[in-house]
Amino acid sequence: MSDIFTQMSLDNHEQVVFCNDKNSGLKAIIAVHNTILGPSLGGCRMYPYASEAEAMTDVLRLSKGMTYKAAVAGLNLGGGKSVIIGDPKKIANEGLFRTFGRFVNSLNGKYITAEDVGTNVRFMEWVSYETKHVTGIPICFGGSGDPSPFTAHGTFCGIKSAIKKLKNSDSLDGVKVAVEGIGNVGYHLCKELHENGAKLYVSDIDQAAINRAVEEFNAIAVKCEELYSLDVDVYAPCALGATVNDKTLPQLKCAIIAGAANNQLKDETKHAAELQKRGILYAPDYVINAGGLINVYTEIGGGGKDYAWNKSEEIYNTLLEIYNLAEKENITTAAAANKLAEKRIASVALTKNIYRGKK
Ligand code: NAD
Repeated sequence: MSDIFTQMSLDNHEQVVFCNDKNSGLKAIIAVHNTILGPSLGGCRMYPYASEAEAMTDVLRLSKGMTYKAAVAGLNLGGGKSVIIGDPKKIANEGLFRTFGRFVNSLNGKYITAEDVGTNVRFMEWVSYETKHVTGIPICFGGSGDPSPFTAHGTFCGIKSAIKKLKNSDSLDGVKVAVEGIGNVGYHLCKELHENGAKLYVSDIDQAAINRAVEEFNAIAVKCEELYSLDVDVYAPCALGATVNDKTLPQLKCAIIAGAANNQLKDETKHAAELQKRGILYAPDYVINAGGLINVYTEIGGGGKDYAWNKSEEIYNTLLEIYNLAEKENITTAAAANKLAEKRIASVALTKNIYRGKK
C-alpha cells in the first residue's frame, strides 16, 4: 500500500478509519470522502480482498463515487463507504456486524452505513443494535425497504429524458429497448417500459427471469452475447458493471445507453469519449440509478415514499441539463455530470467558509 496520506490526498478524502477487532475477526475500513453537503452515506461492502491495498483502493474509489451521486441527486448527503475484508459466507455473524456497528457509532453520524455487495438486510439489522447511523433496514424496523422500484423508476425517467434529447418527444411508444439483466431493478424497469409502449429485448443468465419478462411484458429473449449488436434505440445495462468495454463498444448499434448498473464504462474517461465520438448518448450511471439512494435517504431525511418517488423523477431534468452541458462545452456526458456535482459542492463549501468567517 502506498503512503496513506498520499492516497487520501489524490481525491481529497476527509477521513479514513481502520477498524480492527481480534475477538470478532473484524478488519474493516471506513472512508469518508466529503461531508460538505451533509453526512456521508454509503454501503458496507464485504469481500475477500486479495490484499489490504486492494480493499483500500476500493473503499476510496467507492466513497468518492457516493459524494458525486448524492450531489447530483440533490440530496443533503456527502459521500462515504466502508469495506469489511473477508468472505461473508465464512465469517459473517452477529458479533462481527455489531462490532462494525460500534465503529460506525464512534463517528457520531459522520458516516451512515447501508447494505452493499456481500452484505444484506439481516446484517444491517445487527448493525442497528449498536448504532442509529444505519439505513437500508427492513420496513418493520422503520426502514425504507426494497430500493429497486425507485431505482427502476429513476432509470425509466432517465431513458425518457434521453429519448427527449434525441427525438424532441419523450414518448416511448414503439421505442426499442434492450434490457440486460432482469433482476430486481430490471424487472421493474421492464414493467414501466412495457406499460408505456416500449418494445423490449431481454437477456439474463437466469432462464426463469427471462421467461417472466417474455410472459408478462411480451419481451423478446436474446442470448447474452447478442444483446450488444441489436438494432435498438436504447441499451439498458441492469446486470453487471463494465459491460461497455473495448469488446462490446464496436458492436453497439443503439443511439442511447441508459441503465441502472453501476460502473457501466470499463474505463470512464476512455469509453465515455469513444461513445461521444460514435454519437451514442450515455446517461451517466450514477445519475440515472440514484433512485435507490433517494429512497434510502428518506430514512434519515424523512419525506416517505411519495418524496422518494417524486425526487426520482427529477432525474429526467437533471439528465437533460447534463446532456445540454456536454453539448455546449463539447465534453462527455460523464464529464458534464462530474462538473455538475463539483459545482454544487463548491457553492455550498463557499457559503460554509463565509459562515466560518474565512471569506
Ligand atoms: P439483481 O442481482 O437483482 O439482478 C441482476 C440480474 O442480472 C440477475 O437477474 C442476474 O441473473 C443477471 N445477470 C448476471 N449476469 C448477467 C449477464 N452476464 N448477462 C445478463 N444478465 C446477467 O441486481 P439488481 O438489484 O437488479 O441490480 C442491478 C444492477 O443495478 C447492479 O449493477 C446494481 O449494482 C445496480 N443498482 C441497483 C440498485 C438497486 O436499487 N437494487 C441501485 C443502484 C444500482
